[in-house]
Amino acid sequence: MIFGKREAPVTVVRSSRRSIGVEVRNGAVIVRAPFLTLPGEIDRILAEHSRWVEKKLELCDARTKEAEEAGPLTRDEIRKLADRALKVIPERVAHYAKLMGIEYGNITIRAQKTRWGSCSSKGNLNFNVLLMLTPDEVIDSVVVHELSHRKHMDHSKEFYEEIYRVFPDYDRCNKWLKAHGHSLMIRLNNVK
Ligand SMILES: [Zn+2]
Repeated sequence: MIFGKREAPVTVVRSSRRSIGVEVRNGAVIVRAPFLTLPGEIDRILAEHSRWVEKKLELCDARTKEAEEAGPLTRDEIRKLADRALKVIPERVAHYAKLMGIEYGNITIRAQKTRWGSCSSKGNLNFNVLLMLTPDEVIDSVVVHELSHRKHMDHSKEFYEEIYRVFPDYDRCNKWLKAHGHSLMIRLNNVK
């Protein structure tokens, strides 16, 4: 579909939600819509938001260009970030785990291109070294997300309620990651 001068793929995700939401992520448009939405209604919403989508796409392009210009992180840079992460992240995990009354296993720091963190069923936690290039509150939001999986291994309503209880600012941080995360991850492009 064309938004202004920019072409972008559109994915429609249907669920039991009540309203239509439009999102721009990594140069693609995602429409979240209730199950029974007619295609014409989605087209109308997209046409209505065309200018907004175009602006968001331009922003994505600018960030991708910026990341490309900054170039891939060197192994040495990644090692330094990992050293810092090994000091910072276990501290944040310990702080929030205590607050949430949660126990956990080992903490691993990885350079990875797809995820910011994960939590295994045994309670081992894994965090992306690139978190060191994000604001402190974003690090905390990922820590709290993974720790909440110690109580709920899904992304249910109860899971998010647990997050908001200890970290009310979660949505803003999550938006930050959605907006900037991709351009950080492409800086790992030469990492195997
Ligand atoms: Zn999760």
